[in-house]
Amino acid sequence: MAAQTSALEEAKALGLFQPQGAFEVHCGGCHTRLNGLGDCPSCGLIGRSAADVEARLGSDPAGTEKVLQAQIAKRRAYRPVKS
Ligand SMILES: [Zn+2]
Repeated sequence: MAAQTSALEEAKALGLFQPQGAFEVHCGGCHTRLNGLGDCPSCGLIGRSAADVEARLGSDPAGTEKVLQAQIAKRRAYRPVKS
């Protein structure tokens, strides 16, 4: 096996990158109020583009990786409410 899947690739695979409008304050998926970064604290959605987060990985690898891991964990635990 080659390199293990990075958190960035995992977040992409889960479809977490859904850039929100600049003045969007609620998640388009679950309507939870977004945090200061535009990320959803409920369903794990990341309100920025993958390219933007990739750039942040360059300047703050540890911090950005942490955010990605946290959002991935939230998405895995998230169960959309049906009906
Ligand atoms: Zn959400």
